Amino acid sequence: MINSFIKVAALAITIQAFIGCNSSTKNENPQTTTSETQKTTYKNRHVMTKSEQDSLTPDQVLQELKDGNERFNSGNFTQREHSEEIRKVATGGQFPKAMVLSCLDSRVPVEDVFDQGIGDVFVGRVAGNFINTDLLGSMEFACKVAGAKLIIVMGHQHCGAIKGAIDDVHLGNITSMLANIKPAIEMSKNFEGEKSSKNEAFVKLVAQNNIKNTIAQIRAKSEILKEMETKAEIKIVGVFYILRTGKLEFID
Ligand SMILES: [Zn+2]
Repeated sequence: MINSFIKVAALAITIQAFIGCNSSTKNENPQTTTSETQKTTYKNRHVMTKSEQDSLTPDQVLQELKDGNERFNSGNFTQREHSEEIRKVATGGQFPKAMVLSCLDSRVPVEDVFDQGIGDVFVGRVAGNFINTDLLGSMEFACKVAGAKLIIVMGHQHCGAIKGAIDDVHLGNITSMLANIKPAIEMSKNFEGEKSSKNEAFVKLVAQNNIKNTIAQIRAKSEILKEMETKAEIKIVGVFYILRTGKLEFID
């Protein structure tokens, strides 16, 4: 255990050196705009700093993302500046507040759903939002090395990967990919009603159980993340995204 943390600390130093981000790095955020017009056009010209990241608790990050989803739904989302100037500021280092593991689905624009911008969140994507060694490593990098405080596992309504797993699709590499979702079907075996991909209620239950299974797998397979969660350094939360409304349902 101690050895593994020494290794992580060494990795952190190595990676920080590699990507050029450290606690002394300053983001010179160009907050000042040259005219009132620009101020109203670009509400957000800010990239998160290390001290801002440090000051946030996992619960505060969760609240910020919930608030962001409210803005997304109300149509009051932030007008963002993605100019070269902002991208240049972001090269000073990255200090995101959260990591979101999402499905591949093109109808789930992750940063938009949470009204987040450049440097705010890590996003990992795979059809069916399950974890494997590479995604777990990415999450460990996001939280242990880069300081993110929250992991969100996000499934969604009308998920083709979930439907494919229910239908037991066999096609190329999709077959082995869908095998990762099969435990969620087993978890849903007591569903009363038609257990098919045509039954939206069943598809939703399997998607929710898939999120629960992914979170259980994170805790079971990542000593680092489990310990961070136990120490309340991070939170791991599941959400189900409703395509039609843009709203989130939190999974207990
Ligand atoms: Zn999907």
